[in-house]
Amino acid sequence: MIPYGRQDISEADIEAVARVLRSDWLTQGPTVPAFEAALAQKVGAAHAVAVNSATSALHIACLALELGPGDVLWTVPNTFVASANCGIYCGATVDFVDIDPASYNICVEHLAEKLKQADRLGTLPKVLVAVHHSGQSCQMEQIARLAKAYGVRVIEDASHAIGGSYQNGSIGGCQYSDITVFSLHPVKIITSGEGGLALTDDAALADRMGLLRSHGVTRDQRLVEANDPEPWYYEQIDLGFNYRMTDIQAALGLSQLERLGAYVDQRNRLANRYDALLAGLPLTTPKQDPNTLSARHLYCIRLDLASIGRSRLDVFNELRAKGVGVNVHYIPVHTQPYYRERGFKIGDYPASESYYREALSVPLFPTLGESDQDIVVGALRAAVGAD
Ligand SMILES: *Cc1c(COP(=O)(O)O)cnc(C)c1O
Repeated sequence: MIPYGRQDISEADIEAVARVLRSDWLTQGPTVPAFEAALAQKVGAAHAVAVNSATSALHIACLALELGPGDVLWTVPNTFVASANCGIYCGATVDFVDIDPASYNICVEHLAEKLKQADRLGTLPKVLVAVHHSGQSCQMEQIARLAKAYGVRVIEDASHAIGGSYQNGSIGGCQYSDITVFSLHPVKIITSGEGGLALTDDAALADRMGLLRSHGVTRDQRLVEANDPEPWYYEQIDLGFNYRMTDIQAALGLSQLERLGAYVDQRNRLANRYDALLAGLPLTTPKQDPNTLSARHLYCIRLDLASIGRSRLDVFNELRAKGVGVNVHYIPVHTQPYYRERGFKIGDYPASESYYREALSVPLFPTLGESDQDIVVGALRAAVGAD
């Protein structure tokens, strides 16, 4: 089976991990801060806080922005459930904004309209989680302008988007947001096994997230109440978690970071090749905004089911039977049973739902060879009746 995504582990990665395993520090050693510093510098953020997953990063990002009971978080339905769940973890209410069918990202017009309405009703969100689907940035400048006008804080869920850029800045530089979150799950652009990062330009937010990832416990003289404390002394000054990244994970992440640019280039080459090979078929290829360079985590097409004359499930099954590991990103979050129990229903977000009915993610990862890509294209051509 040609998978829809897969990690690339080099001998240098293995050696970097082995070095940590032979060292004195498996966790809370020097490699996590080294990784944080390298990543912050790479994307142009002042601070990076490494944690054990993007889900944890989203959680502590929301807490650092003081999201809590009585507050509201907005995100899109067309994302992984974690983008919404972080609001629930904090005791907040979650609501959704529908997507733009061409970019698969949040629709800025819907956002403007919904903010105006929420302002009238007194139901404005405290936090907006903007998801960069497939690695392509949302229209952050417009989003930031709206967020500022209504006093909304912005988190970029850039789980797909490390290595990409928007306008002239790297994603993660937080030019238009309070905090940006990356995922280092193996299927994403670079990996640490499991892992995530929260980037910010705000020192206070970085401090708060640093505290929350490790039990809310600190020895920092500026923060503890005690004067002249004993050498073993620490204080718990907030309720945190154990969301720490290990040095083993950070070593892999740091080693992979060196190949980030090459990975994104290769993903773009392959995506552009798909664009050319799939042109003219009864399907839509992912549209790129010239203001963005997508990290191309996913290559999601929309099938023109009416002209193909068969169901998405039929197409999916035929491709899987031929060894092409297609997938679907995403089932709209508001249609999940957990969210339907919270009052959402099918039909609430028609653009996300019609995207979902037609969507298919085809294999894309940096070590995908052109001959395997040709197999994918051949199988897809046959499945949509083009041959
Ligand atoms: C993968 C992903 C996450 C969660 O990442 P983890 O590191 O697995 O916790 C969150 N949001 C989006 C959009 C993702 O794709």
